[in-house]
Amino acid sequence: MANKHQYTCINCPMSCALELTEENGEVKSVTGAQCKVGERYAAEEFADPRRVVTTTVPVRHGLLPLLPVRTTTSIPRRLILDATRRLAEVVVDAPVSNGQVIVPDIMGTGVDVIASRDLDKDAGRQSQARV
Ligand code: SF4
Repeated sequence: MANKHQYTCINCPMSCALELTEENGEVKSVTGAQCKVGERYAAEEFADPRRVVTTTVPVRHGLLPLLPVRTTTSIPRRLILDATRRLAEVVVDAPVSNGQVIVPDIMGTGVDVIASRDLDKDAGRQSQARV
């Protein structure tokens, strides 16, 4: 028996409404996509939905208290909660460079979590603390 699944493509501002038809887990067709990217997206959403994870982690001695971080690419959606729990345990020391690996191979996905910006040490605060 064929089943239909609806998705909205998130790969460009067109936001095409996609309809995937599958039978016994096998994708039969995807309609509504204005390009191949949407067809691939619907098939991936059905078989193994993935997302890029973005969050922040605390920083010691930084100009700012929080560092924005993200996965280098998408990870399976079913692992996102565990990944964010893992990241909730992380504290980094300033300075940090944009792209620096903060957590390698998050949840065994082969995907690293990296810093999304440079973050310098708060030299002023440190020198004040020493006075
Ligand atoms: S199917 Fe193609 S045109 Fe439509 S939203 Fe996705 S990427 Fe954009």
